[in-house]
Amino acid sequence: MATIYVVGVTGEGQARIPSVPECLFCRIVSGGVPASVVLESPRTLSFRDISPQAPTHVLVIPKDHYPDLAALAAADGSLLTELVNQAAEVARAEGISGSGYRVVFNTGADAGQAVPHVHAHVLGGRGLGWPPG
Ligand code: 5GP
Ligand code: ZN
Repeated sequence: MATIYVVGVTGEGQARIPSVPECLFCRIVSGGVPASVVLESPRTLSFRDISPQAPTHVLVIPKDHYPDLAALAAADGSLLTELVNQAAEVARAEGISGSGYRVVFNTGADAGQAVPHVHAHVLGGRGLGWPPG
């Protein structure tokens, strides 16, 4: 049987999928999977990565489901801006704005994207090597 997702339309006219049942991060948004929440806004959620790679490692996601950064940018630029502002707010709340931090959007297989629900990694609290591995 085919799976049918109910989609809405964003302000910029692109299809929007509020939630995908089998998506881990959609399940965190709905409360079905627990997470350590750092910040919440009406359209975003920020929570600690379960396997932190730095003293601060927080994931910032839109509550609606978009598979990756390009899909979000094409569908809703204002939500992308809100996501980036939340990443900066997380850095302030974690006390790493002054020392510096990295915001990463892994996209696709070569970048190691494991969860196909767009998420910004906010990493900081130690010196971060460059180039990344
Ligand atoms: P990606 O590799 O897709 O860029 O990042 C996915 C991130 O999600 C990884 O850093 C991984 O540790 C994190 N992650 C995977 N499962 C869970 C979970 O159940 N809860 C939380 N909080 N993070 C998770
Ligand atoms: Zn999702």
